[in-house]
Parts: sequence; structure tokens; C-alpha cells
Amino acid sequence: MKSESEKIWRGISVSPGIAIGTAFVIGAAGVPVPEYEVPVSQVEKELKRLATAIIKTQRQLSLLKQKAASLPTGAEDVSLLLEAYAGMLAPTSRLVKGAEEAIRANRINAEAAVQKQIAAIKAGFEAMMDEYLAARAADVSDAGARLIRNLLQQNYNPFAEAPEGSIVIAEEITPADAALMDPLQVAGLAAVLGGAEGHAAIIARALGLPAVFGIAGLLQEIEAGDTVIIDGRKGEIIAAPTPATLSTYKQELAKKQREDKKLKLLKDVPAVTSDGMAVILQANLELPRETEAAIDAGASGIGLLRTEFLFMNRPDLPNEDEQFDVLRKIVAKLDGKPLTVRTLDAGGEKLAAALGDVAGESSNPALGLRAIRLGLKQPKLLDAQLGAILRVSALGPVRILVPMISSVSQMKEVREHVMQTEKRLHRKGVKLSGLPPLGAMIEIPAAALAADALAKVCDFFAIGSNDLTQYTLAIDRGDEHVAELYDPFHPAVLRLIQFTAAAAWRANIPVSICGEIAGDRRATALLMGLGLREFSMAPLRLSAVKQEIRQTSMADAVLFAEAIMAKSGEAEIRALMQGGVAGMEKPKKTEK
Ligand code: PEP
Ligand code: MG
Repeated sequence: MKSESEKIWRGISVSPGIAIGTAFVIGAAGVPVPEYEVPVSQVEKELKRLATAIIKTQRQLSLLKQKAASLPTGAEDVSLLLEAYAGMLAPTSRLVKGAEEAIRANRINAEAAVQKQIAAIKAGFEAMMDEYLAARAADVSDAGARLIRNLLQQNYNPFAEAPEGSIVIAEEITPADAALMDPLQVAGLAAVLGGAEGHAAIIARALGLPAVFGIAGLLQEIEAGDTVIIDGRKGEIIAAPTPATLSTYKQELAKKQREDKKLKLLKDVPAVTSDGMAVILQANLELPRETEAAIDAGASGIGLLRTEFLFMNRPDLPNEDEQFDVLRKIVAKLDGKPLTVRTLDAGGEKLAAALGDVAGESSNPALGLRAIRLGLKQPKLLDAQLGAILRVSALGPVRILVPMISSVSQMKEVREHVMQTEKRLHRKGVKLSGLPPLGAMIEIPAAALAADALAKVCDFFAIGSNDLTQYTLAIDRGDEHVAELYDPFHPAVLRLIQFTAAAAWRANIPVSICGEIAGDRRATALLMGLGLREFSMAPLRLSAVKQEIRQTSMADAVLFAEAIMAKSGEAEIRALMQGGVAGMEKPKKTEK
């Protein structure tokens, strides 16, 4: 570390738990760069790709500059450095002009052109044997490597070399990065950018990796090999801890491990309220490798398989056979337990490199061509997925879940695709004994408000409280600047959840909840009281939620929800949530 004494940073609590380990700092450097020839006809396209990556890099730099402004020390230095980086990526800069020239003259790919230009500039500076210029050479490297990372869309594994027990310290951890992490290798995460509800955060929680995001100044002060503590619950990072701090955290870690062990004993007991109402507890999967953990944690099935992993960290799109193969293995592991497969939800902050041009650029990606909107615009993409899901539905109980549905006609259109896919498979000799249930994610306020109409064209609902919160409150779920305004317990969000559950009950179709609050034990009684009997969550959350269900009576859950829904202020709701069912004032029994 740059300074010897203990230093504490406070950021956004993203994934709970404590991790103690050594820092593995992911700078922008060290990215392996492929080199290939670009045909004459593609040169203009390659130049455009470079220009797009430059714009993206400039945007990142300006975001970092905003963050740097809040640094307690060194704000000016960091800001000047970032300005210098931005200058190095200006259209007239040596780096950009040189790279463009190399693409035109040598017909090489953009990332190789940038790398060659960095090497040439560095060699020039270093030859001058001046300390100041040597430092500038390092800056050109950093700025250029950031550009290369954007050109490559991070299609490489930056964690491959992390030693066991590493605490990854990075500027930003993308969902694709997080998907590559191995909890046996990585103990915890800290990043400058990112909010608690983004997909990198969800993956960190799914993998049980304590994480804190949104900490300015981290990369400037922590060095590889430093001892770092992540306190995911408080949202704190501690570098160079004193022996006393280290010992306190070691004790807390041991206590947490003992509690987790106790919770594990609940794995096989039923999820039943104290007054005998059964609740279905299923798991969300981000990655197939979590399937065993879900079964181990006692999940009665998979309530949400996010299929984005199929499209991450690869340059091309997976075909139907490939997707079928992955799903087939999951169904086999589940051995008769139900699986709900969600069609691709790419777009928004979930960038999938493989989609490249297919997804297109959007000035407001969360409101753009995301999820089923993309699928309906790119039917080949959707039909390949539906083909794989229909084929796997012959092997076990499978349901199809459609993300980001906003209207009845969209749902009808998807059903038409399912029927056409069945016909196509039939022509190829694949016979199915029936179509799997087709359901909608209710995660756009319009869908929640139209739940009665949607229930007529859906076989089931799954409430996505993450996006429902984002779109109801107009808060970008992955943006650390507005993270404190993100509130799934906002009365508006709760009313939409309640209305959706009631509409499903009226139409007699199943309804589950699979956003992050489903796995938050503070929300369990409230959600039951709002009419939910099916929850799907990260496998690691199952036991705690089950414990909550077993300690609560459905009658109390209903009263608790009534008390909360009677309030219209967020602060009042928060206070009631804090007290939980136990702290609730129960209506007095009337004397006879
Ligand atoms: C949600 O929005 O609540 C949800 C479960 O979907 P995702 O988090 O994948 O967008
Ligand atoms: Mg969603």
C-alpha cells in the first residue's frame, strides 16, 4: 500500500460476508491482444469499431473523473491524470492517428494497431531516459490498454492468474468478468464503479463472494499483495489492517462460518410456516455450475435460469444444439426437479460481447432493445433458444420464462414463436408430448398494472423485483451515484407486487418472485403477506429464508403486510421492516 497505516474506505454494500485476503489488482494493462488481417472491404468498419471504442473509453474516463472529485486526498492529481488519458485518446493524438494509419496501411485489426502504436510511443519516450517521460510512457500504456479492453469487449479472463484467496480490486467488474470468477480462487471483490443491483453484484452474491462497489480512490492506493479485508455487510474495505482489526475480523469470520453451518442443517426440513402453510423455495442460477449448490441448499427446483451466461465471454452466438446440450446437463442434474428457463435478457447493463452488432447501440440501453424486444427483432436468436428449451422439455419438467414483457400482444407473439418452433422441430422428427408452460417476467410497471390482462395469455408469472424497482423509481440499478435511492420497499413497488400477485390468484395461475428481495429474509413475511407462496433466490440465501418462514405464521405475515401497506412513507415502512413481525403491534382481541 502507498501508506503503511490502516485505511478504511466506505462504499456500497453489494454482497454480504467477510473476506480477508491479498489484493489482486486488475489494472488496464496486461491484456493479451490478437492480431489478424482485415480485408480491404472491412477497413472502414474496423476504423468505425476503433472510433466507437474511443468514445466508450472517453465516457469511462469522464465517469471516473466525476468519481475522483469526491476523493478525500489526491483528487486533483487523479483528475489531472485522467484528463491526460483523455488527451491521449483525442482524435489528433499520436496514439489515435497512428492506430488509424496502421489499420489503413497495414490492414490489421484495431486492437493490434493500438498496441503497436503504444509500443512505438513508449519506445520513443523511454529512449529519452527522463524520469518524467518514463512516467508518461506508463500513462500511454494505461490509456491505450483501456481502449484495447473496450475493443476486445473483455473477452478474456483477467482472473486466471489470481492466487487462491485473492481479493480482486478493479475499476469495474462486469457481469462477464464476474461469471469467470472461481470462489475457490477469489475470496472477495472491491470496485470503483457499480451499484448493488447490477448483474455483476447479483453474480457476486450468487457465488457467495463478499463485495463492495463504488469506492473512489481504491486503485490509486491499494497495491497487489496488500492485506485487505472486505466487510460486505457494512460496505467497507480495510487495507493494511492493524493486528487488532485483523483479529476482530477473524473472529467474526469464524462466527459467520458457525452460523452458516447451523443454517445448513435446515436443508432437508420443509419450508412451512408455523401455522402449517407450505411455501415453495427454488433457486436462481446465473451459471450452470451453481446447480449442485442449489440442490445442496435444498432448492425444490430452479425458479429462474438466467441464460445470459451462454452468450458471455465468446465472440459468436451459440446455436440451438449447443444451448440444448447445456440445458440437457442441467435437467439431468436436477433429476426431476422443475426448471424455469428464461430466454435471453441481453441489453441494458447486461452486455454480451457475442451479440456485437445484433444488439446495436442505444443511447439509453435500459429502455432500449433489451431482452424479449431483441428476441422479437432477431427471431433467429429467439427461435434457436426456444428450440433448445422445447427439446429439453421432453427430458424433464421445464417452463419458459420471457423477460421484459410489457404487453399482451408481445406475449401472444412469443407464443406464436413457440408454436412455430414446435412445428419446425416436428418436421425434423422431434416429437414433443406437449408444450411447456409459458410465463412472463413481471418487471416493467406496465406489465404489473396490466397483470389481469396478461394473466389471460400467460401460464404463470415471475415477479422481477430488481427491474420493477428500477423502472418504477427511474433508478439505474447498476449506478452507484443513485444507489441510495434504489428501494424495493418503496410503497409504489410494493403495490405493484401486491397487485400482480392478486391478479395471478384471480386468474388461478402460479406466481413467484425471483428478484433479489426474494432472498432477503427481512422481506419474507411481507412478501408472504402480499400473497406470494413461491420464492426463487440465490442458493446461498435459501436456508435463511426457510428459517424465517418456519418462524413466522401466515396469519402474522398477512397482518404485517397490511400494516406496511397502510403506510405511504418510505421511512415509516423502513421502520416497520426494521422491527419485523415480532415488533408489530397486533390488533387487540375483542372481549366477548
Ligand atoms: C429482476 O429484474 O428482478 C430479475 C429477476 O431479473 P434480472 O435481475 O436478471 O434482470
Ligand atoms: Mg430483470
